[in-house]
Amino acid sequence: MPRRPPLPESASAVIVGGGVIGTSAAFHLAEAGVDVVLIERAQLGSGSTSKAAGGVRTQFSDPLNIEIAKRSMAAFRDFGRRPGWEIELKQVGYLFVLTTESDVEEFEQSVALQNECGVDSRILTAAEALRLCPLLEGDDILAAAFSPGDGHATPEGVVQGYAFAARSLGAHVRTGSEVTAIEMSGGQLTEVVTDEGRIRTGVVVCAAGPWSRRCGAMVGVELPVTPLRRQILFTEAIDGLPPDLPMTIDFSSSFYFHREGPGLLMGMSDPDEHPGFSVETTEEWIPGLMDIVRRRAPRIADVGIRGGWAGLYEMTPDHNAIIGEAAGVSRFLYATGFSGHGFLQGPAVGEILRDMVLRRPTFVDISPLSVERFDAAALRPEYNIV
Ligand SMILES: Cc1cc2nc3c(=O)[nH]c(=O)nc-3n(C[C@H](O)[C@H](O)[C@H](O)COP(=O)(O)OP(=O)(O)OC[C@H]3O[C@@H](n4cnc5c(N)ncnc54)[C@H](O)[C@@H]3O)c2cc1C
Repeated sequence: MPRRPPLPESASAVIVGGGVIGTSAAFHLAEAGVDVVLIERAQLGSGSTSKAAGGVRTQFSDPLNIEIAKRSMAAFRDFGRRPGWEIELKQVGYLFVLTTESDVEEFEQSVALQNECGVDSRILTAAEALRLCPLLEGDDILAAAFSPGDGHATPEGVVQGYAFAARSLGAHVRTGSEVTAIEMSGGQLTEVVTDEGRIRTGVVVCAAGPWSRRCGAMVGVELPVTPLRRQILFTEAIDGLPPDLPMTIDFSSSFYFHREGPGLLMGMSDPDEHPGFSVETTEEWIPGLMDIVRRRAPRIADVGIRGGWAGLYEMTPDHNAIIGEAAGVSRFLYATGFSGHGFLQGPAVGEILRDMVLRRPTFVDISPLSVERFDAAALRPEYNIV
């Protein structure tokens, strides 16, 4: 076995976690000339990121999420040049199918807000929605919201692209190494302890996804992130699927699907799921999913299932990310709790973390997303969640 190079003895910043957030931060920091080390205990992307459906969208109800998503979409479009990797971006649009008057009202408001922010989304009639997605059925469809620039991309490609470029720019990206403790002295960070040795540093970025609560606890910072299993299935090939089939979401049930090769990838939240770290696949949720499939897109119900997987959403109490710098511990930065939309926020959040490390202004004021909002009862609920 070739010997692994030793861990660097010191670094200007250490990132805990090699998912989309950690690798994006490593790339942006290395590009800015910061001497950065990323520690991932398993393989890059092996946490939530590799389990994501790959949906990338700008349709949100919170203006901060719209700005972060717009910035990320621009980065996804430019990914082949910077950092320079193929991510199979398909801008087929996001189609939210709406079946209640209150959802139509909420989406009308968020579409108006998105348009003010420069997003090209619009409300469609039921007939227009059925034309865009011929798999859909249902007399109960009242309207839909559509954003043509959204779509899906490959999470592994994004992680590998960022990690490869970060390494080329001098970052030390370490896999198979676990952060077990973070040492402090007088409220200042001093060392990151791993199962392979110690790294002296004054800056730590927690990008530990569903495991962030444990990472925060290492420095006495409470990060209210709760893991919740979500499952995905892949179908066999379906004849005659339009190449530009939009990412389609039945909003009231959260059943969604998009093209994956010759078939579909589909998922739905399970109301009976309990918080926990298990990523075993189960069958109990499938009858509930098939009830909705038969009602909303019955052609899919006749197609065989090729496989699936389970991963973890990293939930916060208001379904919005937690991004900031710990109040009581100098230079402990965190970006976590993306509650099901962290893949699409990865590029912009990496840029934000770079600027926070360098104490530069971020492209958008991120302070409303700090963890203190839960103490101050200043919750920031995102309505448009899947
Ligand atoms: C089924 C499913 C579908 C999804 N679909 C979408 C979607 O369509 N669009 C979207 O935007 N988002 C989606 N998401 C959410 C998205 O996957 C996450 O929000 C995002 O991947 C979070 O990225 P992350 O880098 O914060 O976390 P992760 O990818 O989980 O990375 C954290 C990493 O930290 C490592 N780690 C933890 N603790 C330590 C430690 N002590 N030492 C070293 N390493 C450590 C872990 O091994 C892990 O690799 C989906 C999630 C699931 C489960």
